[in-house]
Amino acid sequence: MKLTYSDFRTDRAETEASRFTQGNGMIGIRGTQDEHYTFETPGIYHAGLFASSLDESPNELVCLPNILTNNLWIDDERFSLESGSIIKYQRELNEENGLLVRSVVWKSPNNQTISIKTERFVDQLSDSIHQRITIIPMNNPIKIRLETGIDGSVTNSGRQHLLINNCKQIDARTIAADYFLNDSIRKVAMAVHYSMDGVASISERKFNMTFDRSVDINQKFIFEKKAVIASEPFTSQPFENVIFFSRDEHNFSKSLMNSEKQFWSKYWGNNRIRISSKDNEDQKLIDFAEYHLAIMAPRSDDRISIGAKGLSGEGYKGHAFWDNELFVLPFYMSTNVKIARNLLNYRFNHLSEAKERARESDYKGAWYPWESAFTGHDETPKVSSIDISTGEAQPVTSNIHEIHINSDIAYAMEQFELSSKFWPRKAILEEMTKFWISRSKLDDNGFYHYNHVTGPDEYTENVSDNAYTNYMIYLSIKSMLPKLNGKLQKQAKKLIKNIFLPLPNEQGIIPQDSTFLDKPELPVDDFRMVTGQQSILKRYSRRKVIDSQVLKQADLIMLFFLYPGLFDREIQEKNFDYYEQRTVHDSSLSKPIYGIVASRIGKINEGYKFFKSTKEIDFNGDFHSSDSGIHAAAMGSIWMMIVKGFVDIRQVGVNSIELNPQIPEEWDNLEFRYQFGASLISLEINHKEFSFKNISDNIIQVTYVKTGRIYTIKPDELVTIQLQVRKGR
Ligand code: BGC
Repeated sequence: MKLTYSDFRTDRAETEASRFTQGNGMIGIRGTQDEHYTFETPGIYHAGLFASSLDESPNELVCLPNILTNNLWIDDERFSLESGSIIKYQRELNEENGLLVRSVVWKSPNNQTISIKTERFVDQLSDSIHQRITIIPMNNPIKIRLETGIDGSVTNSGRQHLLINNCKQIDARTIAADYFLNDSIRKVAMAVHYSMDGVASISERKFNMTFDRSVDINQKFIFEKKAVIASEPFTSQPFENVIFFSRDEHNFSKSLMNSEKQFWSKYWGNNRIRISSKDNEDQKLIDFAEYHLAIMAPRSDDRISIGAKGLSGEGYKGHAFWDNELFVLPFYMSTNVKIARNLLNYRFNHLSEAKERARESDYKGAWYPWESAFTGHDETPKVSSIDISTGEAQPVTSNIHEIHINSDIAYAMEQFELSSKFWPRKAILEEMTKFWISRSKLDDNGFYHYNHVTGPDEYTENVSDNAYTNYMIYLSIKSMLPKLNGKLQKQAKKLIKNIFLPLPNEQGIIPQDSTFLDKPELPVDDFRMVTGQQSILKRYSRRKVIDSQVLKQADLIMLFFLYPGLFDREIQEKNFDYYEQRTVHDSSLSKPIYGIVASRIGKINEGYKFFKSTKEIDFNGDFHSSDSGIHAAAMGSIWMMIVKGFVDIRQVGVNSIELNPQIPEEWDNLEFRYQFGASLISLEINHKEFSFKNISDNIIQVTYVKTGRIYTIKPDELVTIQLQVRKGR
């Protein structure tokens, strides 16, 4: 369970830093090097800590003062990976305990040879970061000067969000700094405690400590630091708090052991998916995904959601999208119900902002923002890339047109309710229903339409009757109908009775929207070779792409994924083939969904190909694939491709699931635990049979879809079933 690089490369540095991110759901640190370099962007983030500016740009996840970087001089020569010569080099992230280690043997320009080992981790029990540096002179005694501290000169791409309020040396080993955010009276504070006495100094926005020591040949210089972070409103009096906690007795090895014992060993014990595959990268991929899923979600605070890049970078400014409800929530629903509930509560907490947004646009009810941060207001930026034909910055219209965000949230709440007895989604769904009614357009024939919408596919904008959008509204209201009352129920009934739902044409193709099938084709093979890079927009203008049959990501197929029983297998297959060929997969949300649907309709080999190609999204893709952070949705999707694709588990009731497992040919065996509500089973699947054991206190029901047989399983009971080859449901 290790991610290792034995070559020092500056061209991969940003993506490497994202892959090596460490965190505890509240604090995230990018895995940048331990010294300052211009080839990478250091990042320390506190979940929920956003700030805006006086211009029109939205709130962004604040880059916090850097406490990790060390300036190191060996006999007055500055240590740098870019000078002298590197004799040995290795960086390794141990996903089992969250420890990042860099081991270097370096020969200085003046021929001093030293071994430098740096280690760090984020504590899983408190919001603190630990670092240890071990230096051994290998050929001569050396003089070491180590300069480190709290570097407040950090920015978010040049924008300063921190105003210094207070800097204080607490004692010979401890310094602390307190900042106001630039746009509010909210404060954030950091304190660092070192394992030896140093000399404090302040220069501009940097609060430094300098440590001078002489070290004999083959002797060890061991230096430890612990940094504590606290911020309002999550902690009151952050400055006082960090000072108090930084001085707690601590020791790198002991803290690491505690953190590992209390969190990591339990996490992996409960959640690790074990794949026995001919390709051992398959196991590494799911470990990588589950590692990142462990560190990206706040564990006990429902005021905060998960950014599209978790806490691993500044991509998408830390904003939350529909990614959470449909791509990462299923993982937490099966592994940590508390986190899943918090994610939905986050939406619940912002119902009033969603109502305000609907009102401001002259609609009724509640309309959730496409992108959101801490306040629950819409945070979608105004412009994105440059249009190659006009030279103009492209306006972003997702926030106006991607109204499917409401039904995505509604769907997630319904799924959650299926496995937990009670969930107060009624209030939200009532308000959403009011929005859907007021947003619809009645035509002369009595049909309701949704015009000026964009479905999940963002290369097809501002259309009418996007199939995903209309069906999702229809199905959300349908499931909610019995809970609605009076006039609203009547209006909702009328809407779903007459909502326009596109049906398959003579060839069996369901039109993605009212104009899609009439648009000209555009050859997309070149762009399908380099997915995720939006290279099509470098060849053609955005307008041309929008006006052609080109998809950025799964759209109608997303509907098949969420509602697998809506269309029969033949229709799903035809549409899969039609739309997949036209999809360039420029969103990380695309391939996993095609992969899951492929597996479910019996194309296991194709499903497996998609599974393997998700490696390229973050795990081992292009050198720049994850420069601005790890794709959170892709991490959740890798888990889903196994659990919802190959095993095809579906929730049908509080203690009841159905499944239809079949593993790829390349795999011999698959093992994992699956939680639904208060029930927990362990599953094992090979090519002949599968077995499940009830490891909860509830009596559970499992339906094997292939035979239709329902198994009622008592606590501790183990059931083994002969596998029938799957050809779709
Ligand atoms: C995708 C959206 C997604 C967003 C954040 C975009 O590229 O098109 O569907 O929500 O990225 O992951």
